[in-house]
Amino acid sequence: MKIKFMGAARTVTGSCFILETGNHRFAVDCGMHQGNAEIEKRNWDVDIYDPETIEFFVITHAHIDHSGLLPRMVQKGFKGRIYTTPPTADLLKIMLLDSAHIQEMEAQWKSKKRRRHGDNNTDPLYSQRDAEKTFDKLETFDYDNVFAPCNGIKIIFRDAGHILGASFIEIEVEEGENHTKLVFSGDIGRPAQLIVKDPSIVKSADYLLMESTYGNRNHKNEEDSLNELAEAVKYSYEKGEKVIIPAFAVERTQEMIYSFYLLSKDGRLPKDMPIFIDSPLATRATEIFRKYTSYFDDTSKELLDAGENPLSFPQLHFTKTTQESMALNTMEKPAVIISASGMADAGRIKHHLRHNLWREGSSIVFVGFQAQGTTGRRIIDGAKRIRLFNEDVAVKAKIYTINGFSAHAGQNQILEWLGHFESRQMKIFLVHGEYSAQQVLEKVIEEKLGYEVIIPEYLEDAILEPGRLPKRVEHPEKAAPKIDWNYLLADMVSGLEEIKKRKTQLEEKPWLEQTDFRDRILEVKRSLTEIISEI
Ligand SMILES: [Zn+2]
Repeated sequence: MKIKFMGAARTVTGSCFILETGNHRFAVDCGMHQGNAEIEKRNWDVDIYDPETIEFFVITHAHIDHSGLLPRMVQKGFKGRIYTTPPTADLLKIMLLDSAHIQEMEAQWKSKKRRRHGDNNTDPLYSQRDAEKTFDKLETFDYDNVFAPCNGIKIIFRDAGHILGASFIEIEVEEGENHTKLVFSGDIGRPAQLIVKDPSIVKSADYLLMESTYGNRNHKNEEDSLNELAEAVKYSYEKGEKVIIPAFAVERTQEMIYSFYLLSKDGRLPKDMPIFIDSPLATRATEIFRKYTSYFDDTSKELLDAGENPLSFPQLHFTKTTQESMALNTMEKPAVIISASGMADAGRIKHHLRHNLWREGSSIVFVGFQAQGTTGRRIIDGAKRIRLFNEDVAVKAKIYTINGFSAHAGQNQILEWLGHFESRQMKIFLVHGEYSAQQVLEKVIEEKLGYEVIIPEYLEDAILEPGRLPKRVEHPEKAAPKIDWNYLLADMVSGLEEIKKRKTQLEEKPWLEQTDFRDRILEVKRSLTEIISEI
């Protein structure tokens, strides 16, 4: 059988893997590509997926980087079924409609501009109508139930933690004599995450496609994260200012609600400090969470049994109208505002940043992954000014980065999960991670667990035969960037520092060995040459 990497290859977005057996062609995940204009162009060129011949999609979870291109596939002729878990299906309905709405708004804005230049209107990537057509194709199965979408293929969902309804997907393929088992990790949740259960244990696979978002680092523990959140609340409350939290509408917002519930139980949330959820999508998502309490972890279920609801308490408010949202900006008292998008690039959060980023005493609390190039990343990287709505806004608020709330396993947790596999011949493809993080994780896995690791490239094909290393077929027109700027630049900076240190040493003690000094200089030269060849 063959696998083709349509996205999430050396990057974190666009998850989609097309599988071809002798008789069938299907795909796991259908994520939107997000990032710069060149990467987003991939969302328009979906002919390379050949949507008409994809028999079915299996979706790991509702995040847009795993599901956001489904309506585009339907628009371009995909006719099959879409298999997923019941909570994911419900979440997909609100998320894809929201995504379609964003696409329509963007097209409207572009069309207006084009008409001024005498050009034609622009079509959206997909419309709300395309999204609705997608919903008819959804078919759900609960965790741990085997189903067979066609002859010779068996699929099972396992609880992945991460977000409500998220799953690992185990796929068994029979082709004549050959029997291949693939496991797709989707996104692996962080053990001890609020609300959802810990990731299930999987023991066998011939091939594992594993996410590597936090392949190069670990998270702080939950208690520290809660303390940091309490610190931000205290800081801004005393100054009479607001705490602004950019958060993804699904899961992270509900975890933040849960965290504030815990703080209020502890007496660490002042009684006159309201919490506002200012995102229509987050409000609808919270309703879906309340519907699927049977998927919650034991701690949450015990609270519910005792008549407590961590997703609903007196200080919590949901804004409904735009007017209510705007009123938050003029409200002159301390409050917590949780709003989307999680990376502060779109949505109502931008307004809240414009009104609070420049205010000393405010806090901006980042509780999720901030991808390169986003407003959120620029703020945590220490920008002094941020451009918002064509205006440079000074950064005077206190910036908190709390990574302990992550819905992704950190490096140690990935290794621990991986430690449960008993298939020594298993081959691992690292996907869904930035290349520099993947390179670190690759080394650690090879050293500690001895598995062979492959880091596939965008649009790469690989032939899979159990027990053997995949045969990698290079794609003729590789669109992925050939070099990893971050890695090379970081390597050069540390190289130059070493060279400087060594130079001083050699000046003091000229009799020392000079070979490693020369080698380091040559390494920096190599990185520089690689960069030059790319520009
Ligand atoms: Zn995810």
